[in-house]
Amino acid sequence: MKLLLIGPPGSGKGTQGDRLAQRFGLAHIAAGDLLRAEVQARTPIGRAAAAYLDRGDLVPDEVVIELVVPVVIKAVEEGKGYVLDGFPRSVGQAKVARGQVEEAGATPDAVIYLDVSREELVRRILARATIEGRSDDTAEVVRNRLHVFDEATHPLVDYYRDRGLLRVVDANRSEDEVAADILAAVGDLAEG
Ligand code: AMP
Repeated sequence: MKLLLIGPPGSGKGTQGDRLAQRFGLAHIAAGDLLRAEVQARTPIGRAAAAYLDRGDLVPDEVVIELVVPVVIKAVEEGKGYVLDGFPRSVGQAKVARGQVEEAGATPDAVIYLDVSREELVRRILARATIEGRSDDTAEVVRNRLHVFDEATHPLVDYYRDRGLLRVVDANRSEDEVAADILAAVGDLAEG
């Protein structure tokens, strides 16, 4: 099973990605986690990316694509499925990545869009800020991340709908309820 998880910040991509990975033995690949690891390790990619993360802006396409796509291809080459969260974040990224993953037989089977109201997102992100202390969970940066989602990432919903890959899940509810709906939405892809 090869899945993309799309949703705004606070929609539960990380949590639901973990649950899917556990349930189906998939590699959980989170673009934000890969980027934060590079920043922490002070690699050249990390140094190039840090300011974008701090502002809540998208890291330049070539940097993210070079970081994420090889990890996806490696998972598939090792015979694993994947759940990829936080990538692509724009139609431009989707188009470039598509050519690269197609050759490796790593094209996604389905795209899950976690649809959440703005009110609920703000509530969740502020709650997470006190628990995790992420430097990009401050009010101003969160506002920018939501804006970036609307402008750059949300167009992927139509892009994947047009390609017949989109499955929308109402993610306003509890973690368990959302997880159950995601399972129902991908049930036809599960082997056995
Ligand atoms: P996330 O953990 O998914 O919320 O991502 C945290 C931050 O990492 C984002 O606000 C962006 O600055 C950066 N980021 C994550 N994924 C991408 C991507 N696909 N393209 C560009 N920037 C990204």
